[in-house]
Amino acid sequence: GRSTYQFYTSALTRAAHDRLALETSLRHALEREEFTLHYQPQVRVADGALIGLEALVRWRHPERGLVAPDEFIPLAEETGLIGPLGLWVMRTACRQAKIWSSLFARPLHMAVNVSVRQLRHPNLLDQVRSILQETGLPAQSLELELTESTLMSREERTEQTLRNLKELGVRLSIDDFGTGYSSLAYLKRMPIDVLKIDRSFVKDIPEDFSDMEIAATIIAMARTLRLQVVAEGVETPAQMDFLRERGCDSYQGFLLTRPMDAAAMTRWIDEYTDT
Ligand code: C2E
Ligand code: CA
Ligand code: CA
Ligand code: CA
Repeated sequence: GRSTYQFYTSALTRAAHDRLALETSLRHALEREEFTLHYQPQVRVADGALIGLEALVRWRHPERGLVAPDEFIPLAEETGLIGPLGLWVMRTACRQAKIWSSLFARPLHMAVNVSVRQLRHPNLLDQVRSILQETGLPAQSLELELTESTLMSREERTEQTLRNLKELGVRLSIDDFGTGYSSLAYLKRMPIDVLKIDRSFVKDIPEDFSDMEIAATIIAMARTLRLQVVAEGVETPAQMDFLRERGCDSYQGFLLTRPMDAAAMTRWIDEYTDT
């Protein structure tokens, strides 16, 4: 009826209004320097050695506080803001990796999440090259994390971009692995270095038998293809033991620590590498 119709329009109007407000503040967030990076360490399963970190973006919203990426990355992708935001993330993370590598006198890689829209941008290669130059981080220390769905688009140009990035020396990893549909043939053809086992297959180890089988299969497959394999979302010693037994290379997760800002992470690394 008429009143129902009116109800819907006003609800839609409100949703559209909220979205527009969020979009406007997101646009200003970059120039207002409201974005910040948190970092989560990755360690080798075999001996616990710190090998690298993943950069995870947060938005320090003036009213809403710390906003998680799941709440604004999709909007940033839709509006195109992911372009400048992604560059800011990469530059900031590379700069930080360079600082930590010298401070702790060890090579540490930095993993940065790259969205599909960034990968399709014709200038990505030049942008990565100039960020490496500007920050002095060796290309081998930068790892770009691409989701399976990003890679599945199978565009000619995307594939060429990956090859060029690979040639530049950066490492490429497939994030959230196991949630998409990569074929073995595809994996073999792509210039990929790392598979990251999605958290959904880790979280119910050791209770869920099929998840354990899936995780073990991914590890075995990575070995066959000579790829490094990283487990994400490791929260318990039992999960870590299982991964070690199955030959997983490295892991990250709350068992080590939650992601932290640069200052807190500096103290964490200092303590972790001391013992
Ligand atoms: P992701 O790349 O899969 O990142 C892992 C997420 O799992 C992070 O959430 C991290 O905080 C969380 N996590 C890590 N260890 C554990 C654990 O042991 N248990 C549990 N329950 N969670 C854990 P976060 O930081 O909220 O990021 C969410 C997603 O947002 C990321 O998922 C990534 O897809 C995206 N994202 C984050 N930063 C960026 C960025 O700079 N650019 C782009 N394009 N996407 C980003
Ligand atoms: Ca990731
Ligand atoms: Ca992931
Ligand atoms: Ca994920």
